[in-house]
Amino acid sequence: MVYSTVILSITMKKKVLIIGSGLGALATALRLTSKGYEVEVVERYHQAGGRLNLMEKDGFSFDLGPSFFSMSYEFKELFESCGVENPLKIRELNPLYAVHFENRDKPFLIYKDLQKLANEFKGIESSLAEKTEKYLNEAGQLFHDTENIVVNRNFSSKLDYLLQLTKVPVKHGPKMFRSMWSELERNFDSQEVKVIFSLVSFFLGSTPFQTPAVYSLLNYTELKHDGYWNVEGGMYKIVTEIKKILDQRGVKFHFNTNITAIEETNGKLTAAISEEGRKFTGDHIVCNGDAASFRGQVLNRKEFTPQKLDKLEWTLAPFTIYLGVKGKLENLHHHNYFLGNNFKDYADTIFKTSVSPNKPYYYVNVSSRSNPACAPEGHENLFILCPVPDLRYKPDWTDSENLADTIIEDLSKRVGYDIKANTVSRTVLNPIDWQDKFNLYKGSGLGLAHGLNQIGGFRPKNKDEQLSNLYYVGASTVPGTGLPIVVISSRLVTERILQEDGII
Ligand SMILES: Cc1cc2nc3c(=O)[nH]c(=O)nc-3n(C[C@H](O)[C@H](O)[C@H](O)COP(=O)(O)OP(=O)(O)OC[C@H]3O[C@@H](n4cnc5c(N)ncnc54)[C@H](O)[C@@H]3O)c2cc1C
Repeated sequence: MVYSTVILSITMKKKVLIIGSGLGALATALRLTSKGYEVEVVERYHQAGGRLNLMEKDGFSFDLGPSFFSMSYEFKELFESCGVENPLKIRELNPLYAVHFENRDKPFLIYKDLQKLANEFKGIESSLAEKTEKYLNEAGQLFHDTENIVVNRNFSSKLDYLLQLTKVPVKHGPKMFRSMWSELERNFDSQEVKVIFSLVSFFLGSTPFQTPAVYSLLNYTELKHDGYWNVEGGMYKIVTEIKKILDQRGVKFHFNTNITAIEETNGKLTAAISEEGRKFTGDHIVCNGDAASFRGQVLNRKEFTPQKLDKLEWTLAPFTIYLGVKGKLENLHHHNYFLGNNFKDYADTIFKTSVSPNKPYYYVNVSSRSNPACAPEGHENLFILCPVPDLRYKPDWTDSENLADTIIEDLSKRVGYDIKANTVSRTVLNPIDWQDKFNLYKGSGLGLAHGLNQIGGFRPKNKDEQLSNLYYVGASTVPGTGLPIVVISSRLVTERILQEDGII
């Protein structure tokens, strides 16, 4: 393996303890072991991966959370910079996804090829290819003008961040002040195109009416830049392949180990303590648990009291259903959105209500379509995700099975197949389950939201304010959420540690 060529750049082997084993943690462990560090990992769940996890049941295997990613080059960078051959075989999604509107027989297929895309909207949106080209050019300029200023760097302070922002060309300024929805209204006429292009805001865990227009850059990443990808063999391959390398490098993993307290001396974190009272130590400690709630719940910081944590903006919670179904659902594509016809009303209410939606909007992924090994012959595995309010607004999920039934009934009607009657395996996870499995604050699926007051220098830092050897990696620290962004987060925290140790 190319590992032998990796330069062990520190003479005294330092040890890094990582709390959590999500993608942020695994990628950090890969980078740090490549630089000669010894790494140990403690994880509360029974296996690695965090939200990027796997459930095997009744002969089916299900990716628990993520089903695709953008910016595939971040994974390439990760392996290349660690001197490791990229073990992942990835496939570009084409079409990117299908969008089903209520009372419309045929879904819209979303293609990167703008002529093909325009054909899908014939008679609905005129000159779509030209309008989209113009819209994406602007979004692309914004992406490239900000990626190295806002996303790919550490900030020493809020002031440092604000100074960096002054380097962003002023022409992008108005996009900070209008919503993604109004940006789409300026560019497109039909409700269908506006709704479809605004779906990316849900990847940030928000709605297009609350998301600033700067995030139109996500349309650029999906439709023009790098598209969407998934992994041959299932998304969990990302975890097993990285973990395989870490095992070879001697990284120790302790599962079913929840860190609930710490010991500190002279401004340093000297031990992370598990629920059972076991102590874990390291020269540096990297927390992959949520960067805001860890500061509150484990470090007892007054800036992150329960009241203050509740006042932050959190992304929507996931309500997920995993079905093993007999038969083949020919009307489903790999990725599918099922929407109603009351988009604004729906988006305006889903965040902050204590009742389950009676006509839910949801996403369906059939990974057995491209990875037949995920389901027994003649069956499909369905993953259904419905974004719902977090536990601050809806703490009671005793209606989970009813909500699952509502969604399955609606899906059956819309694809013309009796899914309920053909279900041979069924698992439902509500926000309480997601909270309990991975310590997600109030069940929020993607961590802290990405409003302008919660990004860059305003997001919880990846270096602790008080304990000089404590760092953070993952979705709620910089730069933000999503698989490739968390890989960037691992690069940024590694840079911090290497700088601190005088290695770079
Ligand atoms: C349903 C769902 C679907 C998604 N779909 C996509 C998608 O299609 N594409 C995409 O790019 N992104 C998607 N995401 C987002 C993506 O999963 C996350 O951004 C990413 O996986 C976060 O990785 P992380 O390393 O920051 O955190 P996590 O994956 O949350 O890992 C943190 C780990 O730390 C552990 N931990 C926490 N606290 C402690 C403690 N005190 N002691 C010990 N261990 C602890 C947790 O158990 C967990 O294993 C999805 C998320 C969800 C929930």
